[in-house]
Amino acid sequence: MPGIGIPPLEKTIPPIVKRNYGKWIYHEVPRPGVLKHVAESGEECYTVRAGMPANGRVSTALARSICAVADKYAEGHLRITRRQSLELVGVPEAQIDAAIVDLNALGLPVGGVDHTLHNIVACTGWIHCQFAATGAAAISKALSDDLYDIFLKEDLPAKLKVAISGCVNNCGEGITADIGVIGIHRDLPRVDDEKVKKCEMALIISVCPTGAIRPKPPKSVQVDPNRCMHCVACVGQCEGMPIGDPVTDGVAIYVGGKSGNAGSGPNFAKLVIPYLPNTPPRWPETSAAVREIIEAWVAGAHKHERIIDWINRIGWEKFFEKLNIPMTYKQLDGYVLWPMSSRTGVRFHW
Ligand code: SF4
Ligand code: SF4
Repeated sequence: MPGIGIPPLEKTIPPIVKRNYGKWIYHEVPRPGVLKHVAESGEECYTVRAGMPANGRVSTALARSICAVADKYAEGHLRITRRQSLELVGVPEAQIDAAIVDLNALGLPVGGVDHTLHNIVACTGWIHCQFAATGAAAISKALSDDLYDIFLKEDLPAKLKVAISGCVNNCGEGITADIGVIGIHRDLPRVDDEKVKKCEMALIISVCPTGAIRPKPPKSVQVDPNRCMHCVACVGQCEGMPIGDPVTDGVAIYVGGKSGNAGSGPNFAKLVIPYLPNTPPRWPETSAAVREIIEAWVAGAHKHERIIDWINRIGWEKFFEKLNIPMTYKQLDGYVLWPMSSRTGVRFHW
């Protein structure tokens, strides 16, 4: 129905993209952070990509400044990618240098294309999500600072995607990144009888995937500590079931995820480090673990091998050995239905 929903695509895409819609034949990366797409007609479209602040979160003032740069160099055409990068689309070749200078002046580094670290994705985490076990955006900032030198160059074996999710709901998509940092709770939902009695009891009980929630007469619930897997499913159903503890919450590190079709196709990451503590503001343990994984991959991978392709070649045992991480039963993964599960997700390319 006209007037309902998002604006029609043809009204929002840049003219050069509209002219060549469906007619692109190849693209290349002439320099770090710059993409050149070539159409059948021979027309070339240059795109300048920059890293955005953590969680793609900007002030109104910065948003206006970004729009001004887009007006100046790309006829107002910008987009935010699914990895929370900023792209100016259709920058004239002669103005690329000036556009980069202006983006850098706003504090936005240009890079993150092809064989390098792509912009680190993060969900909102502690900023304003009641499920969060960690500060996803803050970890993204700490890691981005630590890996800044990699982001600016194009000298990794293949693409490197790092993503941070504040909890196992995985809005940050840590499970489909080469390296995922995922917040985990280790405490139980704290049942507040007064608040729970105002919630829909049947819903709270039925939403628990492990059957850990039982009725507690006269009108409340109790959580079985031996069954609860800290999944936060009940937390969103009733404000009387909050979860989270600053001392016991932390993050797990997942490795080997991939959401694209290229090469060996999409893959869910596997748990590699079950727990690291929350240590804001710089999360040194998490930062060190991520850097060690990257360094081991860079040292051992062939050209064009994403982390999972490298691990598949050398074997997971060797990977754990190289990283000096003890393998325990916690790393065993028996979820054989993941391809079926991932095909049902709208964000997974298959
Ligand atoms: S992954 Fe968890 S913490 Fe992050 S936005 Fe989603 S529900 Fe909230
Ligand atoms: S956190 Fe998950 S497993 Fe634990 S009680 Fe709530 S729904 Fe059940």
